[in-house]
Amino acid sequence: MKGLCILGATGSIGVSTLDVVARHPERYRVVALTGHRRVEDLYHQCLQHRPAYAVVGEEDDAAALRQRLGEAGLDTQVLHGQVGLTAVATLPEVDYVMAAIVGAAGLLPTLAAARAGKRVLLANKEALVVSGPVFMEAVREADAELLPIDSEHNAIFQCMPAGYRAGHPPAAVRRILLTASGGPFLDTPLERLAHVTPEQAVAHPKWDMGRKISVDSATMMNKGLEVIEACLLFDLPPERIQVVIHPQSVIHSLVDYDDGSVLAELGNPDMRIPIAYGLAWPERIDSGVEPLDLFEVARLDFREPDFGRFPCLRLAFEAARAGGTAPALLNAANEVAVAAFLERRIPFTAIAEVIADTLDAIPASTATDLDSVLAADAEARRHAESLIAR
Ligand code: NAD
Ligand code: MG
Repeated sequence: MKGLCILGATGSIGVSTLDVVARHPERYRVVALTGHRRVEDLYHQCLQHRPAYAVVGEEDDAAALRQRLGEAGLDTQVLHGQVGLTAVATLPEVDYVMAAIVGAAGLLPTLAAARAGKRVLLANKEALVVSGPVFMEAVREADAELLPIDSEHNAIFQCMPAGYRAGHPPAAVRRILLTASGGPFLDTPLERLAHVTPEQAVAHPKWDMGRKISVDSATMMNKGLEVIEACLLFDLPPERIQVVIHPQSVIHSLVDYDDGSVLAELGNPDMRIPIAYGLAWPERIDSGVEPLDLFEVARLDFREPDFGRFPCLRLAFEAARAGGTAPALLNAANEVAVAAFLERRIPFTAIAEVIADTLDAIPASTATDLDSVLAADAEARRHAESLIAR
């Protein structure tokens, strides 16, 4: 029986994780669930899964939830804020931590879980992108098991040599081929991109995800963050990562070996596949996902990404090459710009402009310690906010 903490339980990944866990009550016990503002959803999750701990963002929400759970006969302890998140991510009775908070807000509890030597199921790519070497060093030092949940990285992990552990250079691997759906605007005429709405941007053709990552998929910043994520997880330079647009999203990514063999992992586009894999590794369990029907898929297409259409992808490759605080600056400017786009304060095409301007204005340093990346994150947020306000 493994004790599980889900950071970001009320989100898309959190809900899928609870779906898989509920299929295997003999294997997993839910110890802690966290939600930020969706307190009503968290209340219902607590009634169903009876965790020992729950965490919300604000103190008043914690008090209200504590009272309601008490009235329902549960003795769930309710905490709040970053302190509460870090506390539940490091509990002795927690073996596995699903890191599924969106954005850099998930960094400190996820890093704490790695330092405490937990099995970290990493969906929260921004946490890794921002902290990079610090995070991977923590994983190696604590000998934590780091299981990528991002579908592409999970596919790559599955195609790595037997016994492979994240954070080490894989033997005899020539390249990684990172697949991308291309998002909802792959074929939209370029002159229309300035006028697309948040509703159109979040309507992803293949994956049902949270709003922020859906916009990232539309700009392809999601793939850019994933390039940086892959460099860190698999200890490879960005030149050895090729992005391949594959609109069907059936091949989740590929590994190209020195002998010319190319291994791929395929499946229906459903996050319960990587989640079940991460939970059960090195075993396999039922995820609830339908078997892949290749006759229905019928064909697999591949296209080269166009940096003119997707400037965010180019900016991310540049940040990956620059290293140091550059990925933290890129990520922070992107988080601010995406939030502003979702609030209709800037047009879609301004997302890349805000990021490019921020990267031009704030010189990246080569430092990778936690204080430096957190300072870069804060400075980039201030700069991006002031650009948007103008
Ligand atoms: P979501 O928006 O659906 O859920 C986000 C979760 O984080 C919610 O539980 C929310 O309450 C919590 N949260 C938000 N802001 C917070 C804050 N400031 N402090 C604490 N908690 C906060 O997002 P999602 O789609 O589930 O994505 C979660 C993470 O997983 C992201 O990093 C995303 O890139 C990654 N991911 C998601 C998918 C997917 O299919 N949804 C696929 C690959 C990777
Ligand atoms: Mg992905």
